[in-house]
Amino acid sequence: DLARGSLPSAWRVRPDHPALLFPAESDRWITHGELDERSARTATWLRANGFSTGDRVLLCGANSSALVVAYLALLRAGAVVVPANPAYTADELDHLVTDSGAEWAFAARPAADRLDGPRLVPLDEPLPERAPAALPSLGSDDLALLGYTSGTTGAPKGVPLTHGNLLSSIRAAMLAWRWGEDDVLVHSLPLSHQHGLGGVHATLLAGSSAVVLPTFDAEQLTDAVHRHAATVLFAVPAIYERLAAEAPRALTAPALRLAVSGSAPLGPELAERLSGIMGRPPLERYGSTEAGLDVSNPLDGPRVPGTVGLPLPGVEMRIADDSGADAADGEILLRGPQVFGGYWNRPAETAEAFHPGGWFRTGDLGHVDAETGYLRITGRKKELIITGGLNVSPREVELALERHPAVAEAAVAGLPSQRWGEQVTAWVVPTEAVDPDELVAHCRARLAPHKCPKQVFVVDSLPRNSMGKLRRSALAPPDTAELD
Ligand code: ATP
Repeated sequence: DLARGSLPSAWRVRPDHPALLFPAESDRWITHGELDERSARTATWLRANGFSTGDRVLLCGANSSALVVAYLALLRAGAVVVPANPAYTADELDHLVTDSGAEWAFAARPAADRLDGPRLVPLDEPLPERAPAALPSLGSDDLALLGYTSGTTGAPKGVPLTHGNLLSSIRAAMLAWRWGEDDVLVHSLPLSHQHGLGGVHATLLAGSSAVVLPTFDAEQLTDAVHRHAATVLFAVPAIYERLAAEAPRALTAPALRLAVSGSAPLGPELAERLSGIMGRPPLERYGSTEAGLDVSNPLDGPRVPGTVGLPLPGVEMRIADDSGADAADGEILLRGPQVFGGYWNRPAETAEAFHPGGWFRTGDLGHVDAETGYLRITGRKKELIITGGLNVSPREVELALERHPAVAEAAVAGLPSQRWGEQVTAWVVPTEAVDPDELVAHCRARLAPHKCPKQVFVVDSLPRNSMGKLRRSALAPPDTAELD
């Protein structure tokens, strides 16, 4: 039973074993024993100060030891933690506070100054403590997190996750990736997002070690991977892109046994380049706030670029049409102990998010290879462009553009058009001077006419969020562009 217990009860406290290192703060490792002791003291203080099981608490700060100690203290006190991106504006933070009903916030400056309402515990000062006393006992059905979707397709929605959801998600990945007590993880992903937080969960459950960097910096990451003999690296494609270009040495460290990629599609060209550096591509996996970690390429078996692999232990997956019936191509549906039960206070969205039988509609489109069972993600439902009445997956057009040697990255979206409803439009970051007309011709040789971009804008960079995800809604024509 992968969902059994609660995070605090599943934590394998190895008192003297190094647990976490924050090189930006100190060169001293925090042991599992110290984490245990410090989080118990702050949890006891919370319980003595009017805190009750189920209270929501905003947790907002850059990656730091205080953030992790606070997180663990909150879980142990029975809180429902609402992780918030510290780069959020006052309005964005206000949405999280109001929507979640958080009456407390553990926050670091400067985000703390943008908060209005909740009782504030500053993360920049020593956390309040009290001699440890008994803490509530929690089970797999108790809520642990109220995660918010990154909002790449709309206003962030609250995703309540139980201890059982979090445990089954990370345990499934740990089994598949053979995570052990001697592993050393390195990452620079924000702990305000499930991807980065998952690395902390694995470290606690295995009693292993992790080096957490505040933000991505190619040199610092390379140094950390080598200095600490990292065995596992967590990163997103935008980070792999930079490492391949600026610091391939990070990827060839002798102890590194597993480089994982997720949160956004790893383009086949990049996968190939990385394969050239590492001997094989990073292990690509697929997950979401709502459904945790679900599908992964195998640790030992073939890693197929352009696919995210096979369902993890305990995960059921199928492809369905809009009615929920099985289909060869369609929406990816997931079921299992790691899948959330419904959005926070949004019954209409919740009803829409599930097909009968508890199948979660991911909103992602995919195809499962009949022979191998590997999942290929082909796009996102909400991002489909409808042009002249026909559906176009932006991802398919991006992949075609990225096959052109002068294209480093491509983004495709629909712009409103009198004639087409939406017109397929491309934004391209070039590797060398390139004529947009040539790119259109390149697409014409590979795609049906309705899928070919009507316009191609050559730009310096693409809009991405803090997880390196493309923000398609932020794509706009350059000021100088003449629209059709
Ligand atoms: P919102 O739902 O608010 O638009 P979001 O879906 O970006 O935000 P997350 O839960 O952070 O919020 O991201 C999950 C999504 O990330 C998945 O549904 C999928 O679209 C994408 N994703 C994750 N891993 C991969 C991958 N390996 N390949 C392609 N897409 C991926």
